[in-house]
This record gives sequence, structure tokens and C-alpha cells, in this order.
Amino acid sequence: MDLPSAADEGEPGSKRQQTSYAFPVLIFLCSLSIVIACNGNRKNETDAPAKRQQHLTDSLQQAKRMQQLADSITAIKKKATAKKKIYLTFDDGPNKGTLNVLNAVKEEQVAVSFFIVGKHVFDSPAQQAVWEQLKADSAIELCNHSYTHALNRYTKFYNDPAGVVADFRKSDEKLDFNNHVVRMPGRNAWRIDSIRVTDIKESRAAIDSVHKAGFDIMGWDIEWSFDHKTFAPDTATGIILRRIRNMLDAGTTRTPGHLVLLAHDQAFQKEEYVQQLLDFLKELKGNEDYEFIMAGKYPGVRGY
Ligand SMILES: [Zn+2]
Repeated sequence: MDLPSAADEGEPGSKRQQTSYAFPVLIFLCSLSIVIACNGNRKNETDAPAKRQQHLTDSLQQAKRMQQLADSITAIKKKATAKKKIYLTFDDGPNKGTLNVLNAVKEEQVAVSFFIVGKHVFDSPAQQAVWEQLKADSAIELCNHSYTHALNRYTKFYNDPAGVVADFRKSDEKLDFNNHVVRMPGRNAWRIDSIRVTDIKESRAAIDSVHKAGFDIMGWDIEWSFDHKTFAPDTATGIILRRIRNMLDAGTTRTPGHLVLLAHDQAFQKEEYVQQLLDFLKELKGNEDYEFIMAGKYPGVRGY
């Protein structure tokens, strides 16, 4: 993807640029103070000492104000050049696509979070083996996506807030997640710090209960969805990349500068779709404006 390459605060060149900008300002301010002070001394040789002292005080205060201005400009520049954060999240594993996703993200060395369905871990020895592999991998993050995934009967599930909390707790106890981040099954809901979003209002009480139980709930800004019959990703790589760029540029994500992408392990069962994922990751990585962050580091998520 050919995006404009804004200066990167993490690059040595940018730091040199900021340093080289601040240093002449400092030199200028110091020189100004000395010149003003000297002029004051010459002009006011006959002045009272108190008046000369006042000139010096005024000059120093002016220098201080200019330094504060220079600091503000540096801070604004730093903020403007901060990298945009992308949270790649893969839901519903472990299943047939999970290892493919794991291998792809390891190959490309990008940080991702898998939102795990507890029941899927225990559905078969093969899925349990995948879970063990995920659990042993310190380069990824594992988050709670409920135990039953509502058995895909969402209305019934969300009508029982206590049952929903118990479902998340069961997954937490059995799988021992090392963070508080969860995702509601079948709902794009948020309860992180001041972000409170409920997509389907009938589910509000249950979602609030999960949050009150100590979980931070992450929804998503954009979904890379898939065809539930063929399991093929239903959006071309170029289109999903363009949507990501547009949202970040327009500042329309839940938190400006931070974008959460939802994808599903199941969509990457076949080799051709795995290649699509690899292409996608390569393109994102190639943009120096972006960096990949795990869900537990999202702004406002409570520490563990
Ligand atoms: Zn799900």
C-alpha cells in the first residue's frame, strides 16, 4: 500500500530533526537574554540597581516564555508524527484456521490477539493441541471470548445477565487468561474506560454485568468478514487495507489513532486465503505510519 510516509517519531532521523530544531532555539534564547541584559547594562549605567535588576528579570521571563513555546511546538510535532496503532484480533479459535493464522503472524512478526472460545478448546484433542501451542507462544496474546459463544443463540444468551457473566468466568477459570480483555459473542460492544457502546440495546444489562464483573470489553472498528459457507474472506485485501487507512486518516475509529480489526481464524483454512492474509500483513507492515499492538495495551484497559 502506498501511503504517505509521515515522519516517524521512533526513527533516529526524526529525533535528530527534533533535536536540531530545539537546539538553535535554545541558543537563540540564551543569546537574546545576554544581549538584552548587556544592552540594559549599557543604557542604564546611571539607572538605579533596582531598575537594572528589573530589566534582567523581564528578559529572563521572556526567555522562559519562548522556551515554553518551543517545548509546546515540539510536543505538537511529536503527537502529529506518532504511529497509528493497529490491533489485529482473530476470533473463535481454536479451530481449523487457527494454526494457519498463528504461522502467518509469526512469519510476519506482527503482534496479534486471539479471542478464544473456551468450549472450542475442549471440543477435540486436535483443538486442545492447538490451544497448548497458542498458550506456549509468548509472541501472541490470548483473550476471553466466552465459554459457549452463546451456542450461537444470542437473544436467549443475553436475556440472562448472570448466566453471561458465569460463562465468561468459566472460560477465565479453565484457561487462565493473563488479561481482563474480553469480546462479547455476536455483539460489537465496548466497555473500556469511558468507551461505552452497545450495538443491540436488549443486551445492555448483560454487557454491563460482564463489565462490572471486572472484564474490559473490546468490540471492533472494522471487520474483515467471511462467507460462512465457503469460509472465504469476503473482502479483497486491497479494499480492506483502504478502509483501514481511510478510518485512521479520518479519525473515525473508537479511539482516534487506534484501530481494532476483527477477523476470524476460520476464514484462513485454505492456502489461497492464508496467502491473502500474508499479503495483507505484509502491506500493513510496509506502512511506517503503523504499529501493531495487542488488545491488552488498548488505552484505558485495566492492568492485570
Ligand atoms: Zn465470535
